[in-house]
Amino acid sequence: MTNVQRITRKSERWFRRNQRDLPWRRTYDPYHVWVSEVMLQQTRMEVVLRYYERFLQRFPTLADFAAASSDDVTAAWSGLGYYRRARMLREGAIAVREQFGGALPGEVPALMTIPGIGRYTAGAIASIAYDRAAPIVDGNIARILARLFGRRANFWRRADDLVQAAGSARVFNQALMEIGALICKPKQPMCDRCPLRDECRAFASGRTELAPRKRAATVALRRRLYVVRDRRGRILMRRDTRGMFVLVGRSPLAVGQKRIGTFRHTIMNQRVTFEVFTASGQQPTANCSWIATKDLEKVPHPSFVRKALHLAGALLLAASTALADSRTYQIAADAKNTVEFHAEDTYDAFDGRTNKVSGAISADPLKPSASTVEITIDMASLNTGNTLRNREMRELYLETRQHPTSSFKSVSVAAPRGADSRWPHSRHVIVHRAHARLRHQRAKKYSRHRR
Ligand code: SF4
Repeated sequence: MTNVQRITRKSERWFRRNQRDLPWRRTYDPYHVWVSEVMLQQTRMEVVLRYYERFLQRFPTLADFAAASSDDVTAAWSGLGYYRRARMLREGAIAVREQFGGALPGEVPALMTIPGIGRYTAGAIASIAYDRAAPIVDGNIARILARLFGRRANFWRRADDLVQAAGSARVFNQALMEIGALICKPKQPMCDRCPLRDECRAFASGRTELAPRKRAATVALRRRLYVVRDRRGRILMRRDTRGMFVLVGRSPLAVGQKRIGTFRHTIMNQRVTFEVFTASGQQPTANCSWIATKDLEKVPHPSFVRKALHLAGALLLAASTALADSRTYQIAADAKNTVEFHAEDTYDAFDGRTNKVSGAISADPLKPSASTVEITIDMASLNTGNTLRNREMRELYLETRQHPTSSFKSVSVAAPRGADSRWPHSRHVIVHRAHARLRHQRAKKYSRHRR
């Protein structure tokens, strides 16, 4: 049996016998696990236990939490401190509702696309809630790994090797957390009670208070990123070891290389200045694939890649092609939604404008002629621009006394500017900035009035 196998077996056996009875261990509900992990960041267990169950009584399901106002969430979090965690948790819950149909995904790359979920939390949810072999490294686990394997070890790689060898990722990862919290403490670890004593380098060498190396000083780096497109506009991306899609750092097969700008981004202790280039390519290089712009939002990618794609305009393009799906947009009552009304016949014309409009846009940008706009307008609110004759003109030309509201179908629709960022993800969107031009199709009727 290898050292890795001995560590996993002994840890799991110890945990099954010695685990504490914690509320989130009763059901392993993904939402509960997520809440507990966020609460436990920078907060002692005794404090979290006082708030956890109260919080879940207030928001029993992820749907309840996603629907809560930020004031309600802050109130429920009150006393736990670090309120940014609560805000991020709520943002994340809304993203889960809108992007994953309300169910937390079980894979690390998908989890890492959710706001507020980083590599540790994604690994904790995947392993503890879904029993998937995902590694986790926090301060406690890094300390145990430093003592088991030496402080120069690559902790994420070691944690991954261990969890892959575990009988149950859920049991093993929690075992390491529990050993770190109860036995292998920062000072005066209780090695006499430790199940891993025989496998521990620090114990063998009498250096059991060994701690992980302090984080190195921040270093400044420069890196290149290439947004390489093929003839069809697809973008060349490489899948890294975490399963994230990243841009290529060099482009041996690309031509027409052009530098489009730079941005700064901090990763751990590295402050990186990324130089972004666009280029054209034909063949995917090793481990790379072409990603259609409409799929960019769907593939998991780190935030520095997102910044580069924004710089190259690729994500804007993705958003517009995402609208190629047929969708229905509900026009909400909102001062920014305006309708311009134009009626004309042989002799005269009538123009009006109002924001008292409701209805829906069924858009099919791939086939615009199939799109429809059904709008109901409060005709009595139309502003003709002639303040003195507003009412008279409405009543004369539009019969607003008999027909205070009218429903119309548009003959042309202009896409709203500044599309909501949720559009690519949502099937049902409330439009807060729509603008429609209507041409009245009953002009003959009005011409009768003017004779
Ligand atoms: S033997 Fe001691 S130092 Fe080594 S892992 Fe166990 S508690 Fe930590």
